Amino acid sequence: MATGERFLKFRCTGCGNCCKDPILPLTDQDVVRIEQRTGVEAKTFVRWVDRNAIEMDDEPEAFVRLRQGKRVMVMRQGRGGCHFLGKDDRCTIYGSRPLGCRIFPFDPTYNEQGKLRRLKLIQATDCLYELDGGNDWNTVRELHERHDGATTRYHERIAEWNRTQASRVRQGKRAQTARDFLTFLGVL
Ligand code: SF4
Ligand code: SF4
Repeated sequence: MATGERFLKFRCTGCGNCCKDPILPLTDQDVVRIEQRTGVEAKTFVRWVDRNAIEMDDEPEAFVRLRQGKRVMVMRQGRGGCHFLGKDDRCTIYGSRPLGCRIFPFDPTYNEQGKLRRLKLIQATDCLYELDGGNDWNTVRELHERHDGATTRYHERIAEWNRTQASRVRQGKRAQTARDFLTFLGVL
């Protein structure tokens, strides 16, 4: 039995805390999906944060070189939490929510044969869960693979963008804006 396998019995109690506290990084796929399915424009729900606002120093590939400096694309928050959190503490875009929301709070690691080695719960907020549920391991794994794939592809696009910006700066030009980056992603 893998370490932490008991967490497969995780059951969300719907407290809503994970939609209030943590800053949620987005990928281009998340933004496109939300725009297309909800009709809400990216500029309404996308926000940019620097390394002082988010602990992602171990993921430098997530930082986009913009005119205002290096930034991570995240979900905008209002006073009550996530931009899409309803007054009843429920997600108003549940079927279109970012993959980062879907994988929460599972944090699996695998052995060389691809088998579950350890399962942890992400400690990003005060998660008021119970351990009387049942999660299908294949579903958890599939979601993580989708999330990892989308993140890798997004990072490749960031790398391409950052190379272009570095070249602009070498030519004495200014780096482009966040709006230009969203256009580059095909979002705006
Ligand atoms: S998109 Fe929905 S599930 Fe994700 S943080 Fe916002 S309200 Fe919560
Ligand atoms: S913090 Fe945990 S228990 Fe609360 S809504 Fe999020 S996943 Fe569910």
